[in-house]
Amino acid sequence: MTDCLFCRIIAGEIPSQCVYEDEHVFAFRDIAPQAPVHILVVPKEHITSSADLDESNSHLAGKCFEAIAKLVVSEDLTRGYRVVTNSGPDGGQTVLHLHFHLLAGKGLSEQLA
Ligand code: AMP
Repeated sequence: MTDCLFCRIIAGEIPSQCVYEDEHVFAFRDIAPQAPVHILVVPKEHITSSADLDESNSHLAGKCFEAIAKLVVSEDLTRGYRVVTNSGPDGGQTVLHLHFHLLAGKGLSEQLA
């Protein structure tokens, strides 16, 4: 989708700090980090949110989690991390391309919302 920010980042039209890429997944540092490590892990295929996952594309969410497991090693996150996905306006989603926030690098609050 040409008007999607993350599709444009994946295509290299908008610069990003890429930390991982494979056939299905692109991961890059969040421009406004909310933790010492804040990486966005996104499927390359445009999927608007987790509400749009179905049997045709849900394997791509699994691919994102495989990438997260690799980032745990490459970013040295063995002390732990949090994965968050926001969906829809009440979920706080601002970019309408499915993404997983990988947050780490400090003791994160037990409070989730
Ligand atoms: P969400 O609010 O869950 O949709 O998350 C969108 C995230 O994208 C936010 O954490 C933003 O800081 C991040 N973001 C927006 N524009 C960029 C960009 N150009 N490069 C990296 N991260 C971005």
